[in-house]
Amino acid sequence: MTAPPRVLTIAGSDSGGGAGIQADLKTMLALGAHGMSVVTAVTAQNSVGVQGAWELPVEAVRAQYRSVVDDIGVQAVKTGMLASPALVTTVAELLADMAAPVVVDPVSVSKHGDRLLADDALDAVRTRLLPLATVTTPNLDEVAELTGLEVTDEPGMRRAAARLLSYGPRWVLVKGGHLPGAAVDLLTDGREEHWLRAERHDNRHTHGTGCTLASAVAVGLAQGLAVPEAVRRAKEYVTAAIAAGFALGAGIGPVDHGW
Ligand code: PLP
Repeated sequence: MTAPPRVLTIAGSDSGGGAGIQADLKTMLALGAHGMSVVTAVTAQNSVGVQGAWELPVEAVRAQYRSVVDDIGVQAVKTGMLASPALVTTVAELLADMAAPVVVDPVSVSKHGDRLLADDALDAVRTRLLPLATVTTPNLDEVAELTGLEVTDEPGMRRAAARLLSYGPRWVLVKGGHLPGAAVDLLTDGREEHWLRAERHDNRHTHGTGCTLASAVAVGLAQGLAVPEAVRRAKEYVTAAIAAGFALGAGIGPVDHGW
């Protein structure tokens, strides 16, 4: 049997199984990849919020990465929750000579409003991590934190994408899902512009949406798709996962990977 493409997530653990590493690995399995993980932080988390978060030592992050990369090898990388300036810098150092595509999901705040990235880590994300990204996938809250731009409409998404591209990623996917109306995202490399529209599903159980989308993009890139095709397929995947999201616990349930 030929081995499936190998995809690595560098992200935080969600004990509730809806977002973070757990969502990443489920997405990778569902789309036909072998998923591997470098855990950066552990969260105590459920459907109502994040009750606690603990960063791993940078040595533990480095060691996990070396174990995976030196033996198994990776065909795409996705980064998620990186928590602190030290972890952002460590991950950027590790990825500096990564030949495979890198998807950077600049996770900063959860849907419940819990901070997953220290304020003083934003600068390292902008200056160290984004220049290494094949594609970065901020939502509008993350766009505001990274660029200072409050986006309220599609022309604003275009201005924000240009600002983000100036930090050095090859492609930017600005996710407009928080704006009213259809869920519209803008993918651009500064030359091509792709507007991706999906019908809005009236489902509050959307925990893990961002992690799922970024992981699906990474799988597509590992499978050899070009960025626009990988993003288009990932958007279809996450739209179906949101449509199938289900209630779990007292709060916001997870998107589903097994519809
Ligand atoms: N917990 C962890 C570990 C995450 O990486 C993320 C997302 O990126 C979240 C929680 C937040 O997920 P959501 O905003 O979809 O609830």
